[in-house]
Amino acid sequence: MSVLDPLTIADPGQLTADLVHLSTIVDSTVPGWTRQALTEADVVGRHWVRARMAEAGLDAHIDGAGNVIGVLRGTAPGNSAIMTGSHTDTVEGGGRYDGNVGVASALEVVRTLRANEVRLRHDLIVVDFFSEEPNRFGISCIGSRALTGFITAEDLDRVDSDGVRFADELVRIDIDPSALLSSRMDTSRIKAFVELHIEQGPYLEEQGSDIGLVTSITGIKRFRVAFRGRPDHAGTTPMNRRHDAGCAAAGSVLAIEQIASANVDGRGTTGLVTFTPDAVNIVTESAELWGEFRSPDLRWLDDAGTEFHSAVQREGASRSVEAQLDWLPSEQPAGMDDRFIEVTAREADRLGLKQSRLYSGAEHDAAIIAKKIPTAMIFVPSKDGRSHCPDEFTADKDIHSGANVLLNTIITLDRELDFA
Ligand SMILES: [Zn+2]
Repeated sequence: MSVLDPLTIADPGQLTADLVHLSTIVDSTVPGWTRQALTEADVVGRHWVRARMAEAGLDAHIDGAGNVIGVLRGTAPGNSAIMTGSHTDTVEGGGRYDGNVGVASALEVVRTLRANEVRLRHDLIVVDFFSEEPNRFGISCIGSRALTGFITAEDLDRVDSDGVRFADELVRIDIDPSALLSSRMDTSRIKAFVELHIEQGPYLEEQGSDIGLVTSITGIKRFRVAFRGRPDHAGTTPMNRRHDAGCAAAGSVLAIEQIASANVDGRGTTGLVTFTPDAVNIVTESAELWGEFRSPDLRWLDDAGTEFHSAVQREGASRSVEAQLDWLPSEQPAGMDDRFIEVTAREADRLGLKQSRLYSGAEHDAAIIAKKIPTAMIFVPSKDGRSHCPDEFTADKDIHSGANVLLNTIITLDRELDFA
């Protein structure tokens, strides 16, 4: 084989079969394909992935943070590594491809390297990250945060709406919270991380592209706003004498839409609004809203935050309603490594695949890992841009193309990266 010839995955049917098998490990009491972290289905799924890693020839284990980790030893002395992987947990009522494609493809990459007797110099680490999707404790990417040291004891102390502690839920599925907090990897030895994932949006399909090269992953600024007005009779209180917290909240919801609509990459969403008292004949005394802004542009996010703060003050002041805006833990935009983007572009070219560059509006483990390790992300198209729903679909041929780009990117990075 010449270095000019790209390799293709050894057994595309096996990759598809692994995805089909994962889709059978679900919570059958919930519609769609549901394998949420902290449930029995997720525990069974991750043990199946560990067994599959071992069958593929990886030295596999589940670490203290619930991550399934498999290692294919490299040939060079020293211990530098390249890492790939994604997640197999799903949202409630989710699909069969989000995350699963990256894990199943990584397994097929390993089987292909072995079938072709390609020995990498670097160790190849394959990870199925624990609990990537946001859970009911308001935290996402638990496994990748644990590996990179971005999780704290306070995070594990969070409680859900029933007062259950996150740490106690972890114990219930045999994850020791103190082991989770000490599951940090020596990231200095990992020279590259590459994640293959479905796009979860319509861009690649619209462009007629086979492959997406991710330039950056969106930043997220989340907030909570509390409005406090005065309860009054809905029939006898003239409009100009009201302190209606509900109207101040409604004006702020529209401000979110207006601020985000003014920028092509801006996103603004109100996810939750509550009015108190919740009664048709009383002017609303207090209201609360939770929302977020997203953009790959940190400056826009900051400007949107400033503009929203003014809007909230204005909506409150014009009704003599107190308004309190609190910013919640947020994510900075994560840039992908420019050199690696060029490597994935070259490999997609060599495979004759049409490619587009785009930023990711969804959060991924890659955004957490990129804070410590140079990272690349490869997307494959999502039918009609649908995701986080049972209709989520990516064609086998697109998944196989993505796996081929992942395979050749890893081989090229192994050859070209400085080995130290
Ligand atoms: Zn995902």
